[in-house]
Amino acid sequence: MRYSIFSLARNALTGHKHWKPAWRQPEPKPEYDVVIVGSGHGLATAYYLAKEHGITNVAVLEKSWLGSGNIGRNTTIIRSNYMLPGNNPFYEWSMKLWEGLEQDFNFNAMVSQRGVLNLFHSDPQRDAFARRGNAMRIDGVDAELLDREDVRAMYPFLDFDNARFPIKGGLLQRRGGTVRHDAVAWGYARGADTRGIDIIQNCAVTGINIEKGKVVGVETTRGSIKCKKLGLAVAGNSSEVAAMAGIKLPIESHVLQAFVSEGLKPYIDGVVTFGAGHFYVSQSDKGGLIFGGDLDGYNSYARRGNLPAMEHVIEGGMAMIPALSRVKVLRSWGGIMDMSMDGSPIIDKTHIEGLYLNCGWCYGGFKATPASGWCFAWTIARNEAHKLNAAYRLDRFRRGLMLDEKGQGAQPNLH
Ligand SMILES: Cc1cc2nc3c(=O)[nH]c(=O)nc-3n(C[C@H](O)[C@H](O)[C@H](O)COP(=O)(O)OP(=O)(O)OC[C@H]3O[C@@H](n4cnc5c(N)ncnc54)[C@H](O)[C@@H]3O)c2cc1C
Repeated sequence: MRYSIFSLARNALTGHKHWKPAWRQPEPKPEYDVVIVGSGHGLATAYYLAKEHGITNVAVLEKSWLGSGNIGRNTTIIRSNYMLPGNNPFYEWSMKLWEGLEQDFNFNAMVSQRGVLNLFHSDPQRDAFARRGNAMRIDGVDAELLDREDVRAMYPFLDFDNARFPIKGGLLQRRGGTVRHDAVAWGYARGADTRGIDIIQNCAVTGINIEKGKVVGVETTRGSIKCKKLGLAVAGNSSEVAAMAGIKLPIESHVLQAFVSEGLKPYIDGVVTFGAGHFYVSQSDKGGLIFGGDLDGYNSYARRGNLPAMEHVIEGGMAMIPALSRVKVLRSWGGIMDMSMDGSPIIDKTHIEGLYLNCGWCYGGFKATPASGWCFAWTIARNEAHKLNAAYRLDRFRRGLMLDEKGQGAQPNLH
């Protein structure tokens, strides 16, 4: 069923009794051409496998409910303000897919290009931001370097004269913004299901079957499933699941928290990030401020955080917006991040025939969801990387071709 003004009117006139569920609840079949594990980027991958490559005998296996991972736990920010050649075209392709996504999968994902502003607080930081903005513009990505008065005109309530972190300006990407994260999972799920793909919830993969160096299937909590190709997109569980195939990944699992305040009147109409610490904030349509910052700083599989990280994040927020001291935090949650050693993702095939990897998204894989699914589908369908994900090779760590956008070194907690 296509969603349109006509279907809305028709269903309204018949008491909304005839809407079909957005996706089926199929039993797993004994065999598929492709099995994808994980219902975040995995749903986007399945969608593009069907749409772009005509491969529809596909199952997406999810150990919990659909979209229960980081795709439904993030702070919803999208942007393509990257500097390095290996990253910039990939994230810009993602931005272009976001721009047409709702029409493409016929679902309202509340894509809102409200602008992402990164503040800078010193002259060297301005130079670094100018360089990044120039690299973006050379690649055809929008970027504007704002001075202090430009920023003041947009956000007068920021603490411009903080003695320690005075605001000197910002780098603005107007096409950046926010997207309702659950709706992205639901939209891709509906689009994939409509094309015949089976989405199987409450189905954890417990083993990977390999014969003569080739994937032949998976063991799951709902039985064995054979497949010709297997794609893993399991974020914080990547090391655990790859180990089932005997692969040791350069990934650490860390918890990252997000916070939501009580509802306020419209206050912050874009996304603003603090440049002297790690703090980012936007305001949802319901009025809550959505914000986050650094990882908790220890390895964990628990999807909840602790108070020291909360205190650290909120201190950053109050250094940027003193009025936050009067706002109450309503709730917080955590997600398990797949932190790679250079802060960049991996989208690649492995040395095991038919086994493909999508992981290492660190803090920033939500904005990548469309391009990640698109490139992973390409890699699985054609058994080779697209040029957009050519830099995201697993062997880059061995070959010394790290993609360290932040220049922080091989320390996951710094990315
Ligand atoms: C608090 C927080 C804030 C963030 N903010 C942003 C942001 O503002 N912008 C941004 O771009 N990114 C952000 N991110 C990062 C982003 O959310 C992730 O990088 C991205 O969603 C990862 O997508 P994924 O599909 O790899 O993982 P997920 O969405 O986590 O999907 C993986 C799925 O695999 C399933 N799974 C795991 N093991 C198994 C198994 N054995 N069998 C079956 N299924 C399994 C899990 O249940 C999970 O649903 C944030 C993350 C967090 C936690």
